[in-house]
Amino acid sequence: MPPMAVSWRDKMQYELKNGGDTIKGIIIEGISVPVGTSPADVLYKAKQKMKRFGLPIGSLHFRLYKKSIDARKRDDIRVVYSVLGVAKEGTTLSSEAIARSGCKPYVENVLSITKGTTPLLARPLVVGAGPAGLFCAYLLAREGYRPLLIDRGDDMDSRVASVERFVKFGVLDTESNIQFGAGGAGTFSDGKLLTRINDPRCSFVLETLKDMGAPEDITLNAKPHVGTDVLRLVVTRMLETITQLGGEVMFRCRLDGIKRMTDGSFSAQTTRGDLSCGVIVLAPGHSARDTYAMLLREGYPLIPKPMSVGVRIEHLRQDMDEMLYGSMAGHPDLGAGEYHLSHTKGERGVYTFCMCPGGEVVAAASEENTVVVNGMSHRARNQTNSNAAVAVSVFPEDYEPYNGSDVLGAIEFQRRIERAAFVAGGKNYDVPVMTVGDFLGNKAGKAMADPTRVLPSYRGGNHFKVASLGEVLPPYVVASLSEGLRVFDKKLPGYAMPEAVLSGAETRTSAPVRIRRGEDFCALGYPGIYPCGEGAGYAGGITSAAADGLKVAEAIIAKYC
Ligand SMILES: Cc1cc2nc3c(=O)[nH]c(=O)nc-3n(C[C@H](O)[C@H](O)[C@H](O)COP(=O)(O)OP(=O)(O)OC[C@H]3O[C@@H](n4cnc5c(N)ncnc54)[C@H](O)[C@@H]3O)c2cc1C
Repeated sequence: MPPMAVSWRDKMQYELKNGGDTIKGIIIEGISVPVGTSPADVLYKAKQKMKRFGLPIGSLHFRLYKKSIDARKRDDIRVVYSVLGVAKEGTTLSSEAIARSGCKPYVENVLSITKGTTPLLARPLVVGAGPAGLFCAYLLAREGYRPLLIDRGDDMDSRVASVERFVKFGVLDTESNIQFGAGGAGTFSDGKLLTRINDPRCSFVLETLKDMGAPEDITLNAKPHVGTDVLRLVVTRMLETITQLGGEVMFRCRLDGIKRMTDGSFSAQTTRGDLSCGVIVLAPGHSARDTYAMLLREGYPLIPKPMSVGVRIEHLRQDMDEMLYGSMAGHPDLGAGEYHLSHTKGERGVYTFCMCPGGEVVAAASEENTVVVNGMSHRARNQTNSNAAVAVSVFPEDYEPYNGSDVLGAIEFQRRIERAAFVAGGKNYDVPVMTVGDFLGNKAGKAMADPTRVLPSYRGGNHFKVASLGEVLPPYVVASLSEGLRVFDKKLPGYAMPEAVLSGAETRTSAPVRIRRGEDFCALGYPGIYPCGEGAGYAGGITSAAADGLKVAEAIIAKYC
């Protein structure tokens, strides 16, 4: 049977004919315009540019393709567009003319899937309904493999309720929280979809999220974001679609063990009974510490990997927008300002991460007696503060004092910091905070000031305790943070303003381990077991986790019929 070519987006199909034949789509890049320029004017400018290149604009449909903000010159902020010209039905364009124009041919990502011939002894099991598990199960379901998707956490409504209980009353559900449940860790987030991986699957991820209800502009904006309020709807729709396509979804179902049967299939031991399955996709995310421990006990190839720890910094959104955009701050074309800062000294890097403009700091703990922070924004990004993680890179040798430099050492390293934050916060899931002024001034005890201008947003506000973050983080992390903040203040004057607030601790920036897998995407020495996504150490962020889920689904489809 010939390979089945799956074109992710028929309406964007373009054919590239070699040797002087026609190209039906081109991209014009670098259309730089003042803030507030209308899309019609941008398209007009692009058409003029094309005319100058002698390209037949009459035979093209035009639309905006990419949009980014160029704020390098604060007194002359520009919006930079790419425009896509699509050849009208029955018209073609010559590749020579395109080449002469310096424009880019638009090539459609066609990923072909070849179905395998090995019989699958039972349905595939996907463990974890985060972006990796969701997209893996979605593609398997679309291709008729009727996957069973399980998650230890709750479905969306119940999960939102348990998160709200924790925010309001400090009652933590260790199975259903900001890390665990429908949609995984990304559900209570800003839903930033930017990724550094250059993988054609990423456009499929964005298009699919759009099909599931995400805003149209996620394929236009260079830095797309969905917002937690919209993301929850998108995740719910995706789960429904997997079921409609013949899949099944089970919540409050935690994988606690894996048994290989004599016929080569598996029995997955879960909190909802043993499940028979042909293959198992392990997409548990970076916070499933008991699952890591179980895999280690069962001899799976886990290795520790570098990660980062630090704090979350908060500024008033207005202050941050002015720092970034000056007098243009607040312009609807710019939205809430985003930044990314980094500094490296010797081996250690310090960088800002997962910035949430107009968002809030969230209580991201998943274990009792620990305090963990992360960030979240709604689609509107209109809350009072803007926040970001400021993280310092740490390495396996740093885990040495905490149970050795092996896998469990990495987890223990995180846990010790999180417990110290719990204690420093007053042992009630309040967060320890410090002003940047006090932090850089090495203040402690009574010398520290209460936040005034910028109020911590953690757990809706009023759930913080002024405490020295030196009591929470290792000294080399504190030293790198101080240096980083001073350097960032030079790059973005005002960044280290004394009133800005630091909350601790940010420890779940990436997975502490990697589950080693081979070219067949199976765990080394464990055929039929597919480690996947961030928790397995192969992704960082929503889009790259989803893309890794697709890769694993393709590998399963390519092997099994
Ligand atoms: C608060 C927050 C904000 C974030 N913001 C962003 C952002 O704006 N943009 C971005 O790109 N990234 C963001 N991230 C990171 C992003 O969410 C993750 O990189 C991504 O979700 C990883 O996807 P994953 O599917 O690999 O794992 P996860 O999303 O972590 O999903 C794993 C799932 O597996 C389940 N699970 C774990 N163990 C078991 C078990 N034994 N049995 C059954 N189920 C199990 C968990 O309940 C969980 O639902 C954020 C993370 C957090 C916590």
